[in-house]
Amino acid sequence: MMAQCVLIFKLGEVFFKPGTLIFKLRTLIFKLIKNSRMNAPPAGAFFNFDINKRSKIQRCEVVFRLVPDYGMVREKKGAGQVGSESMAVLKGRAHERLLVRVGSRHRSYLDIKGKMNSIQAGIAGEEKVLNYIRWLESPWPILWDVNLEVTPGQYVQIDVLILLPTGAVIYEAKNMAGRLRFEEHPARLDKVDEHGYITDRYDCPMLQLQDEIANLQVWFHLHGIPMKAVGAVVMTGSAVIEKPPANGRIFSLREIRGHLAARGKERGMTVRELRQLADYIRRHNRPYIAFPLIGRFSIPAEEVEWGPLCESCAGRLLRKSERVWLCPACNWKTADPFTRTLEDWFTLRSRTIVNRQVRELFGMKSPGAASRLLRFYPLLKDGEGRSTCYAWDYTTTLTRQPK
Ligand SMILES: [Zn+2]
Repeated sequence: MMAQCVLIFKLGEVFFKPGTLIFKLRTLIFKLIKNSRMNAPPAGAFFNFDINKRSKIQRCEVVFRLVPDYGMVREKKGAGQVGSESMAVLKGRAHERLLVRVGSRHRSYLDIKGKMNSIQAGIAGEEKVLNYIRWLESPWPILWDVNLEVTPGQYVQIDVLILLPTGAVIYEAKNMAGRLRFEEHPARLDKVDEHGYITDRYDCPMLQLQDEIANLQVWFHLHGIPMKAVGAVVMTGSAVIEKPPANGRIFSLREIRGHLAARGKERGMTVRELRQLADYIRRHNRPYIAFPLIGRFSIPAEEVEWGPLCESCAGRLLRKSERVWLCPACNWKTADPFTRTLEDWFTLRSRTIVNRQVRELFGMKSPGAASRLLRFYPLLKDGEGRSTCYAWDYTTTLTRQPK
């Protein structure tokens, strides 16, 4: 059962930024909940602001959703461990597939490749942190690539989140090489060559981490979770840091051990409670969906090869018989070119597919055959008859289900 309650604040003209205002209202709201007969923590408080052009807030509406305590959720098998892969992994793979499908002579090829390399370097860094923590065999739940909605439309993205008895730890992985220099006023990270000249400039990872900590803290408060958040930037590449920030925490991988060991000893929530909380966070995870990719690179659909392709030489596959698809160029064969082709469609071309498009992709004549193929996949259906649209929930794996 879900209850909802709305509080409306008339504020006159207030010059607070929404974030600051939330902090001020938070205390008041939780006092109200504590004094009311509501015995469940709020699952979310959504703030709607009337903000005029000069960013003065005139009215603030707070909507609470009350759901049963997160502690009541039944523990799933294996909960608390890193389960599903990060959305970034799918995104990296989609860039790889787009390269194959546009071909090396396409004008966006280098653009796509550059983006792919940076996504894959990011994933490699996060995996180094995850693998190191797994190797430590600490009992605490670890979450990878968490996106939480803090206020409507505003998200916090966290690479690696570990839940410890007295608080949450954020590790922001930076997989960088070369010589790096942290600069202040304005805060930034400069990459320099051997002569000390700046070759690249990045946003300061310490600032990024501070934002993540502050936003996660707000999210915990809004969800009635008594947790504090801390964090560190973990350098996972071969970078040499010339000027580390005075106030910040920049770790190498090996420093994680000591950091976790010191915090893990403090008393607070039990492992079971932490696993339930991890589950609660997973259910609130709203991964950022970057698909379809062709729109991001402004590539018209006509410039991309959409049909089934050879996994060995990227040539077009021909259907030789009911069960066999063959590459005429290199003789590579497969019985299932469908899954890969559909995954590419959903990540590169469109969030939905209709029967006619399936027929065109695989050279099928009958709508019945296309429907039968789609029924093998756990797709979401919308509409009836000919206008039925099928969509893939990107957080699940697209695999053929045995019928
Ligand atoms: Zn081939």
